[in-house]
Amino acid sequence: MGQTNGNQRKRVLLLTTPASYRTPAFLAAAERLGLEAIQAVDLPEPLAREWNVPLGVDFTRPERAAEQVAAFVREQPVDAILPLDDSATVLAALACARVGLPHNAPDAALAARDKYLMREMLAAGGVPVPHFQRFSAASDPAHIARQVNYPCVVKPTILSGSRGVIRADDPDQFVAAFARTRDILASEGWAPEAASILVEEFLPGFEVALEGLLTENGLQVLALFDKPDPLDGPFFEETIYVTPSRLPEETQAAIAETTARGAAALGLRQGPIHAELRINERGPWIIEMAGRSIGGLCSTVLEFGTGYKLEDLILLQAVGEPLPEPDIAAPAVGVMMIPIPASGILRRVDGVDEASKVPGITGIEITARLNHPIAALPEGASYLGFIFARAETPAAVEAALREAHGRLRIRITPEIRLRPIAAQAR
Ligand code: ADP
Repeated sequence: MGQTNGNQRKRVLLLTTPASYRTPAFLAAAERLGLEAIQAVDLPEPLAREWNVPLGVDFTRPERAAEQVAAFVREQPVDAILPLDDSATVLAALACARVGLPHNAPDAALAARDKYLMREMLAAGGVPVPHFQRFSAASDPAHIARQVNYPCVVKPTILSGSRGVIRADDPDQFVAAFARTRDILASEGWAPEAASILVEEFLPGFEVALEGLLTENGLQVLALFDKPDPLDGPFFEETIYVTPSRLPEETQAAIAETTARGAAALGLRQGPIHAELRINERGPWIIEMAGRSIGGLCSTVLEFGTGYKLEDLILLQAVGEPLPEPDIAAPAVGVMMIPIPASGILRRVDGVDEASKVPGITGIEITARLNHPIAALPEGASYLGFIFARAETPAAVEAALREAHGRLRIRITPEIRLRPIAAQAR
């Protein structure tokens, strides 16, 4: 599968963070394809030097980081600059613009970070969006509770992974949800005056996730995942993803069409896109969309053509090489993001061997650290682990994932928080 350009290997600069789940998959893909991968990591410069990272830049200061990346690329040209996570998409757009590589609009990356901006841009582009209103997190929720329609969804504009996303069916639930989301923002260092909370109409319906590539020929859908567990709230924990989708062809076509319109509305023009949509009798609705591939370890299950992984396709397109036939190789695959049943200290996960033996299960990875705190949604920000499956049909994949999950025994004990002695004495 090696790619050559004369005698020179093509080079790709990967923008990543020290904790990214996505880096190993992209490094392995670059290796398989014979590409030279260079990492630009979100690290303070002195630490980058110490760790021998060729390029350490501060992703939270994208203009300055883009200047550094561009200077590096002018010295050592690359064929593509690729962001692996949301944290690097603004930087990637700015850096590519500086060195003349094709890129998405920087605003598309900003929209992926700010749910209010995303709604505004989608609405401006004529893509249907749920009714939405933005409030300062310092607002009095009792006052807002009288202005909104129910059921609604309260969400911070800037967090991800469903953190702080809470459904409210009446004013009392709304007041509690708003306060809880405000506390989650505060735990991330956001003063209420500096943060915003979005209140949206709750969209009932079935949820899907779409992995695609934007090419000069438009959107190429690589995988459409069904999420067979109902996501009706009050919290929205991702669990099972199964592809291919069991939705009717015409619904799948409508999903692809809405996604392509959403991408255009956001200024996403090239490279990987990941979109989450809900489908109801009014059609498909974009919940969110970003110029990156699927998070966590979910892409592990995808295999295209004769052994290509999702990251191979993304890298090939990024460096301008022809793409192989993107047909999914296995009849059906799926992944379960193992739900976190409670907050506390994760003590043990038993039954992994037993669960691995369930027919169709291809792997189980517990990614959370034992004896460390773990938090359930809406506060939670990490994964417990993943179960992967492959079978003849999507239904068999789903059944295997449920069966394997049923064999896991997850032990979480309450976290004992120490209080200052003076407080205990009282
Ligand atoms: P995040 O970026 O934190 O994942 P999202 O806006 O994507 O936040 O919301 C997370 C999940 O919450 C969605 O996948 C969906 O299941 C649910 N959700 C969010 N907004 C709505 C809505 N307006 N109606 C129904 N469900 C929603």
